[in-house]
Amino acid sequence: MAAPPYDAVVVGAGHNGLVCACYLAARRLKVCVLERRAVVGGAAVTEEFHPGFRNSTASYTVSLLHPKVIRDLRLAEHGLRIVERPFANFLPLPDGGGIRVGGGIEATQREVARFSPRDAERLPEYYRRLDAVAEVLRELLLQTPPNAGGGIAELVPMWKSARALRRLPLASQRDVLDLFTISAGEWLDRWFQSGPIKACFGFDSVVGNFASPYAPGTAYVLLHHVFGEVNGRKGAWGHAIGGMGAITQAMRKEAEARGVEIRTGVPVERILAREGRARGVALSDGTEIAARCVVSNAHPRWLLDALADFPGEWREAFANYRSESATFRMNVALAELPDFAALPGRAPADHHRSGIIMAPSLAFMDRAHASAMERGWSEEPIVEMLIPSTVDDSLAPAGKHVASLFCQHFRYALPGGRSWDAERERAADAVVDHVTRFAPNFRSAVLGRRILSPLDLEREFGLVGGDIFHGKLSLNQLFSARPALGYGNYRMPLEGLYLCGSGAHPGGGVTGIPGHNAAREASRSL
Ligand SMILES: Cc1cc2nc3c(=O)[nH]c(=O)nc-3n(C[C@H](O)[C@H](O)[C@H](O)COP(=O)(O)OP(=O)(O)OC[C@H]3O[C@@H](n4cnc5c(N)ncnc54)[C@H](O)[C@@H]3O)c2cc1C
Repeated sequence: MAAPPYDAVVVGAGHNGLVCACYLAARRLKVCVLERRAVVGGAAVTEEFHPGFRNSTASYTVSLLHPKVIRDLRLAEHGLRIVERPFANFLPLPDGGGIRVGGGIEATQREVARFSPRDAERLPEYYRRLDAVAEVLRELLLQTPPNAGGGIAELVPMWKSARALRRLPLASQRDVLDLFTISAGEWLDRWFQSGPIKACFGFDSVVGNFASPYAPGTAYVLLHHVFGEVNGRKGAWGHAIGGMGAITQAMRKEAEARGVEIRTGVPVERILAREGRARGVALSDGTEIAARCVVSNAHPRWLLDALADFPGEWREAFANYRSESATFRMNVALAELPDFAALPGRAPADHHRSGIIMAPSLAFMDRAHASAMERGWSEEPIVEMLIPSTVDDSLAPAGKHVASLFCQHFRYALPGGRSWDAERERAADAVVDHVTRFAPNFRSAVLGRRILSPLDLEREFGLVGGDIFHGKLSLNQLFSARPALGYGNYRMPLEGLYLCGSGAHPGGGVTGIPGHNAAREASRSL
């Protein structure tokens, strides 16, 4: 029998699919990447959404991309430039005040002291303790989690994982336990008194996480957002010049330089299985492509369809995999910058270059969750706005701007049989109204908009249930249990089938890590 033409076929050219392909090719393996959309990058793409206006379509800000991936894939040499936000967040308040966080510890302490001198004093210790736990997470990122049911072979990865924990002082070990289990609200209430600082930090706990910040488990989601860095500055977030697509276009260049074949506009329908092993894929037009192994960058639940004829206990676990982040995403083209009541001015200023959080308290976030539970989404949603055109003139015509609006607590399934196709515009209007409460010129500045409801995120990017992270970051879906216990080591139920997307450890975000780790496991077997 002739040898298959490829060592590996990667299903999906999301950033993790591209990273995985690059590492496989580095081991002299022949790799083909098949992408359903017309453009590579998955949820990390830059597209024109209004004539003359371009922006990141889905993911919009960078921090979690692993420095090893940036280095190994020569992303800077391929033109990637990331600039840090001048400060992390600006949180305007409804009464016209506001708080800025970031830009150095002294600057943040000065801001926080306006609300609570005690909170300002506690701030350095808060950062130190949070970073100590983030460091544990960082150590685990590039590891393959020990696999449940893997027997004695799993002792080494288990020992490696425990090593990071054992080195911590007892107080930090307690923090680890808390941050993996309790609510962000409880964690922040222990540290701080003032509402605005708790809201600023607590926002991360509901990003892509349909929950009240007082729900157990939300502290972990907060932690997940601080393990990254920008240009060596730990915990910082930044703008990719050219939008998030600049990251994946740089990855594409490296993949092509390594000889990877990338085909776009090619939906894969099935994974071919014979004698208990993956043998390649079948496209929706019936074409079959043989390979020694298959690596899926798609959402874990896609495997249920792609392996419809492959029974086993895995099917129940994958069917139960929870996937709904309740996220609504808009891009708007703007005639002018928002003029915030809290910091008046239409000329570009540092607060326009930071992440602007329009959710003034944890109680506000809790209410947004409660009303979404009841009505599908809240008229007063949680919105973060980023205006990348303030640091990047390639995105909008001179003097004009583009803004990313990232909105939480919009359910995938609306109650009462309502449909997103009928409701998309009304929800978008509510988001615009909400921003206008903080910046009165906002509504009239909007020249055009692109709306992505949770249903649109599923249709456009294959994000099942509209989940931005390919599945909830809950304790029962993390580490060895991501996507399901027994499949935490990137190896899927069928021999020769691997998962390299955000549904694998360490989960969602533009990290490149699942792709990096899955390539190691796949090439080991090959
Ligand atoms: C609205 C939104 C905002 C976000 N904001 C941020 C952010 O600011 N910062 C951040 O770090 N993260 C953010 N995220 C999360 C982050 O973007 C994702 O976790 C990450 O991009 C997922 O990458 P991936 O490669 O694992 O999968 P994806 O990007 O989902 O890529 C999977 C690819 O597989 C393709 N595919 C699926 N099925 C098939 C098939 N059958 N045949 C062929 N191709 C297929 C898809 O088209 C897609 O291109 C955001 C996500 C969303 C949706």
